[in-house]
Amino acid sequence: MKSLGYYNGTISELEALKVSANDRAFYFGDGVYDAVMCRNNIPYLLDLHIDRLYKNCSILDINPSISKKQLKNIICDLVKKVDAKEKFVYFHISRGSQIRDHAYGDLKGNLFISVTERKTDDYKEKMKCALAKDIRYELCNIKTLNLLPSVLTAQQSKNSNCDEAIMYRNRNFITEGSHSNVSILKGGALVTAPNSKYILPGVTRAHLIEIANQNGIPVEERKYSIKELLSADEIIISSSSKMVRGVSHIDGKTVGGKDEKLLSLFRETIYNNYINATTV
Ligand code: PLP
Repeated sequence: MKSLGYYNGTISELEALKVSANDRAFYFGDGVYDAVMCRNNIPYLLDLHIDRLYKNCSILDINPSISKKQLKNIICDLVKKVDAKEKFVYFHISRGSQIRDHAYGDLKGNLFISVTERKTDDYKEKMKCALAKDIRYELCNIKTLNLLPSVLTAQQSKNSNCDEAIMYRNRNFITEGSHSNVSILKGGALVTAPNSKYILPGVTRAHLIEIANQNGIPVEERKYSIKELLSADEIIISSSSKMVRGVSHIDGKTVGGKDEKLLSLFRETIYNNYINATTV
């Protein structure tokens, strides 16, 4: 198979998959999702992503209807059905299906999974980014299906020939990317916005902090400003699909480029851990 879709036990080519029109994901984006890269049929850091998905279900009172172990087994079986070395595995659990009504009943979650071929980008190539006001609401720590503000912001950056938008709440608070976390390197330290209702606790961001701790690199989890961003030694974009990428330009102006060595340490370690992973 070239791509695969799964919905509550039914498997087919992604485009041919049938889903219930009463699924609350359609009406309200009422659900949570997660995603991993997969290489050699090993969905990378899958347990961490499943843990986050179930935590988000619990925060939003969504009944996942299957156990974490069952979900893991389903994903591990599905990835083998798509012929590609590298794949992207997306999975979401919506609250369930019912006739449209804002308030919900006692529902069982619907599980949707897609597996598609996806090669990792050239992780050494730096990204061009645009600054954008963070127009999201206050549940940014939850990976919900409601992504309209992120979609509009990502499109705005694409329209100005950028690869990602770096968002701010105010001049003193860079939050994250439209679909990534943002950190900076300054004077040999890793500076990253603290986990809060304004950023997603990224798996790759946590991995960056772990690498810093293992290498004696100071970590400052604190708010930082647009000014600090623009004068940072390096700017780091991190996500499960992009891994770790440096940034060369913001709104057309050159940024970073002052600590390639430290940037490389994070970039290579994360990429190598991914390509050398031997277990799920
Ligand atoms: N922040 C946002 C808003 C995201 O959408 C993502 C990934 O999709 C991330 C951060 C990075 O999270 P992770 O490293 O877990 O993929």
